[in-house]
Amino acid sequence: MKLGIYVHIPFCKSKCHYCDFLSYSKMDLAKEYVDALIKEIKMYSKSFKNTNIQSVFFGGGTPTVLPSYLIEKLYSCIENNFTLSEDCEWTIEANPDTLTSEQVQLFKKYSITRVSLGLQAVQDYHLKNIGRIHSFSQWENAIWLLKSNGITNINTDLMFGLPNQTLNEWEESLNKVIKYDIPHISAYSLTLEGNTRFVNLYEKGELKLIDEILDRQMYTMAKDILGSYNHYEISNWAKQGQECKHNLLYWEQEQYIGAGLGASGYLNSFRYTNTRNLKDYIKNMDRQIALIQEEKEHITLRMQQEEFIFLGLRMLSGIDINKFKKIFNIEIYDIFGNQIDRWIKQGGIRNNNNKLVLTYLEFVCVFFV
Ligand code: SF4
Repeated sequence: MKLGIYVHIPFCKSKCHYCDFLSYSKMDLAKEYVDALIKEIKMYSKSFKNTNIQSVFFGGGTPTVLPSYLIEKLYSCIENNFTLSEDCEWTIEANPDTLTSEQVQLFKKYSITRVSLGLQAVQDYHLKNIGRIHSFSQWENAIWLLKSNGITNINTDLMFGLPNQTLNEWEESLNKVIKYDIPHISAYSLTLEGNTRFVNLYEKGELKLIDEILDRQMYTMAKDILGSYNHYEISNWAKQGQECKHNLLYWEQEQYIGAGLGASGYLNSFRYTNTRNLKDYIKNMDRQIALIQEEKEHITLRMQQEEFIFLGLRMLSGIDINKFKKIFNIEIYDIFGNQIDRWIKQGGIRNNNNKLVLTYLEFVCVFFV
């Protein structure tokens, strides 16, 4: 059995204009939060202490915004309460402006081998317009700091479809980043969701987005410029062998513990999501775990089979027909034969050596709407 751990740190220095992730810029409850989080993590270790952990992911928010003594408490809690597999991938998300030499020393001490650095664009005026509080040169410095300390497994997030962004600027972002030999790149189109500054501006008619055709051209450009990478998921590219194990765990329906505010986990066919209320989380963690889990849903066999299809389509390797049979003990065509035939007739997917793969990535929209 594969098992991963996701730990959510819901704090950021300030809020980016497009961001709907659960994070606060006020840090007054950070210490109480970390204490509660440690209780939750220890609670899971009672059931999974001897299970080999394949991946640990500290996400947020910006985990590196925590003072070093708090983040060290969390690292040692994970290390002391779980059995990490020898090749465990341990990732931490960081922002270029919050990464310090002291933190990088802690990464080394606790075998944190992978760092995911948010960047989005290389033009400082775009960074400012979307509410990022760092410059491109700070990202360059962060890369230098990591590499000079032997941390080379780095992801960088890029974003296209920014307000007023041109195709040339997007090309410049991609080309500048790959010059640093970054082994993993995530490239997403800007989407407006939740209660963000950008959504509010858009609703008032004060934010103009680029048109859909340009957005598609930008995606196609990413595929071309990142051609030497393994394009293994719709929005993710990796050098061979450096695909993100933690994300693969999600996409391959493996189990994961989710700890922290708003975190989701998937254990023993149940998916749960923790409360998004910081004070409730801290208060209730002192009482019992059921109180912090806001949603808990049994993922039935049928739901697991449907998820297998949709998650499989996200990955460029496609839906593995043999794996479906192995997991569910039934042929995929016995359940989804009609849909699969229809999609093949529509030209959206094809059967390539017992893998159902998308013929062109844009077709994925047909499935996900
Ligand atoms: S740094 Fe990341 S998590 Fe924090 S507000 Fe910006 S996009 Fe959101």
